[in-house]
Amino acid sequence: MSKDILDLAGIGIGPFNLSVAALLDQHQDVDSAFFDSKPRFDWHPGMQLPGARLQTSCLKDLVTGADPCNPHSFLNYLVQHRRFYPFLSAGMTAISRREFADYLDWVAGRLSSLHFGHGVESVSFEDGLFRLTFETGQNPVRARNLCIGTGIRPHIPPACEALPSTRSLHCIHLMQKGRDFTGQQVAVIGGGQSGAEVVLGLLDGLWGQPAGIRWFSRRPNFEPLDETPFTNLYFSPGYVDTFRQLPEQRRRELVHYQKLASDGISPDTLQALYQRLYEYPLENPGHPLPELLPGRSVYAVTDGTPMNLLTRNRMDDQFEEFQADQLLLCTGFDHGLPPCLAPIKNRFREDSTGRPRLQPAFNLDWDGPDDRAIYTVNQGRFSHGIAESQLSLTSWRSAVIVNHLLGHEHYPVSEKGLSVRWGSSTPQTTAQNRQVPRKTAQMGIESF
Ligand SMILES: Cc1cc2nc3c(=O)[nH]c(=O)nc-3n(C[C@H](O)[C@H](O)[C@H](O)COP(=O)(O)OP(=O)(O)OC[C@H]3O[C@@H](n4cnc5c(N)ncnc54)[C@H](O)[C@@H]3O)c2cc1C
Repeated sequence: MSKDILDLAGIGIGPFNLSVAALLDQHQDVDSAFFDSKPRFDWHPGMQLPGARLQTSCLKDLVTGADPCNPHSFLNYLVQHRRFYPFLSAGMTAISRREFADYLDWVAGRLSSLHFGHGVESVSFEDGLFRLTFETGQNPVRARNLCIGTGIRPHIPPACEALPSTRSLHCIHLMQKGRDFTGQQVAVIGGGQSGAEVVLGLLDGLWGQPAGIRWFSRRPNFEPLDETPFTNLYFSPGYVDTFRQLPEQRRRELVHYQKLASDGISPDTLQALYQRLYEYPLENPGHPLPELLPGRSVYAVTDGTPMNLLTRNRMDDQFEEFQADQLLLCTGFDHGLPPCLAPIKNRFREDSTGRPRLQPAFNLDWDGPDDRAIYTVNQGRFSHGIAESQLSLTSWRSAVIVNHLLGHEHYPVSEKGLSVRWGSSTPQTTAQNRQVPRKTAQMGIESF
């Protein structure tokens, strides 16, 4: 850190703040530093399952969408590692999660603005500056602006909260150490991509040979990620721009409706899983078949040996009981601001559900001075849309943030794409107050 007061302090170094840091690396006049509690960069090490693939194009890397000439691109990673031509010949539609993690690690190693082993303990606002203190006692840091990139926290369903973490393990920790579920009844809870990958891992014997495998999903079936072209437009700047201007309630409805555009299972994973299940009796003669249990919500779990699961089947509205020695929770993640912001949290304006309100440049709506911004990445699912928690628009969002920080449009962020007109051309006119020309109404066109 070259100056006493930073222009921007980043809290958390996952891919999203790493992207902001990678763009800022090209702006030597901006003094920035990013802090993470981890000892080194590591992208979801507990879910680096063999064969797991990125659900996003590798061109949607940290920088390319904003600045294809930036040296921290995935293509430059390939060239520097002498893998460009082998990569092209591999003809892969999606790279492995391991390779993307290696790319992120490579970028992290090239940026001098990153400081690991610096868990931020608290953030206050004093004399017009943010003041960060650290869990491990390093000197406090002052900054004019913040960028919060502290990511996601594993979601533990209420029914599992009281269980010991050894028996009820969130998948995000699965690969952190060697596990052996040999001889156990294993229940996988959660029917999204992580659940599918964990079931595949169990079928492949990654953690020994379980006595039985049960896979529970709340969804009515094991549903695919919608990767088709028009759905992919939800992950485009033009769509985000229309989305964020909608009323709060409408945005919430759309996030719910678009769930499978971001949270479904990759079709390739579904295919591999189905084929493995089909071949299971031939490969494992005499072994009980894995049980697939869609449409079930886990209602209650009683600890014991074994644990007892009470589920409700939405298909026929019946309660059922199952037993398990080990629960693997693939139950997603919670988003929320980190506890270190507690000293200034009451200065943030909230929406009707208590979430902090975000401005167009991903900065919090707060009561501080206009020239002091608190940017956030991965907090805007309900303000900017489902792309927020995905890699797709990472570089674009970073460009919006850096432009705002610089005070001018250094990076092009508006889009000329297909002529899909998401919003009405007269958004101030709602269906309720629209004056239907008498003749049109008489023709019954209203019923459309
Ligand atoms: C297994 C998995 C696979 C995924 N695959 C894809 C995919 O293929 N495509 C896609 O679009 N999306 C994917 N996602 C979703 C998303 O891209 C990732 O979750 C991504 O890592 C989010 O990045 P982030 O920077 O917000 O947070 P994170 O990667 O969670 O990083 C946050 C960082 O903040 C640090 N931190 C937290 N609190 C503090 C503090 N007080 N002080 C200092 N540091 C702190 C943490 O140590 C952590 O390093 C995946 C998610 C998971 C879990």
